[in-house]
Amino acid sequence: ERRAALAASTGPGATSDGHKVPLLANIGGPGEVAAALEAGAEGVGLFRTEFLFLEEGSRAPSEERQFAVYREVLEAFPEGRVVVRVLDAGADKPLAFLSPADEPNPALGVRGLRALLDHPEVLRTQLGALARAAEGLPVYLEVMAPMVADRRDAREFAAACREAGLHAKFGAMVEIPAAAVRARSILQEVEFLSLGTNDLAQYTFAADRQLGAVSRLQDPWGPALLDLVAMAAEAARAEGKSCGVCGEAAADPLLACVLTGLGVTSLSMAPSALPFVRTALARFTLAQCERAASAARAADSAEEARQAARGVLSGE
Ligand code: PEP
Ligand code: MG
Repeated sequence: ERRAALAASTGPGATSDGHKVPLLANIGGPGEVAAALEAGAEGVGLFRTEFLFLEEGSRAPSEERQFAVYREVLEAFPEGRVVVRVLDAGADKPLAFLSPADEPNPALGVRGLRALLDHPEVLRTQLGALARAAEGLPVYLEVMAPMVADRRDAREFAAACREAGLHAKFGAMVEIPAAAVRARSILQEVEFLSLGTNDLAQYTFAADRQLGAVSRLQDPWGPALLDLVAMAAEAARAEGKSCGVCGEAAADPLLACVLTGLGVTSLSMAPSALPFVRTALARFTLAQCERAASAARAADSAEEARQAARGVLSGE
């Protein structure tokens, strides 16, 4: 099945009527670049830089070490787009030197951008290494911050990017419901949004993403989550900016069509999912995706939403 999907699926992501939806890869480092290229990724939509930091353990990797790793990834996508996420430490990705050890609720604690704003030297070093890594390359670099809660977070991140002399677009991940609800305000400070649906689901449904007992509530088809995606995408459209998805939701071919119908402008996923999503998108028009999205949002549960979308897209 995988081989058939790969063979049938080449070229940039688009609906059957030619509405382009760039299909990008989620990677954790240079080791995953080959798989991304083989699957035909148009770039990287989420470079999780945590792994580089987790390797080092007790301190941040040197700027030189970071430079080398970022350069290797950026060189692999000449003329392509690479979205690098600055360090997302805390909760499910604890880092001893950054994450406070004694928090009662680490997922609601000093994690992601919050930890970086508390350790500005770590953010400065990372942005400096990125700025240097992109020098002289034709790559289209974008840098985004995890766990942006409000406009003030976005403003502080944008200021740090400017100070580092980054020639890149800078953006905010939408992982906190407040950021989706007030996306328009956040977009006054940054140039793009990227929905992290794993954490957005966790916080929307108050269901720990690491706890199997509440996995029913972690379903990205939950209509409340679809509403938040629509809000962020509409805000971005109104501001003339882009709004991608880089959470696991993008890897579900049917949901990828629904997300497209909600107005999401790019989809980033594990490389192995790319051929399946490309094939699914190519089967439907944008209008069909929009109808499936409306049907899913009208449902009362994740399971009904999935069935409603399937009904629309298999009936046409
Ligand atoms: C997300 O939360 O959806 C996301 C893409 O980031 P991570 O899974 O690394 O937290
Ligand atoms: Mg996240």
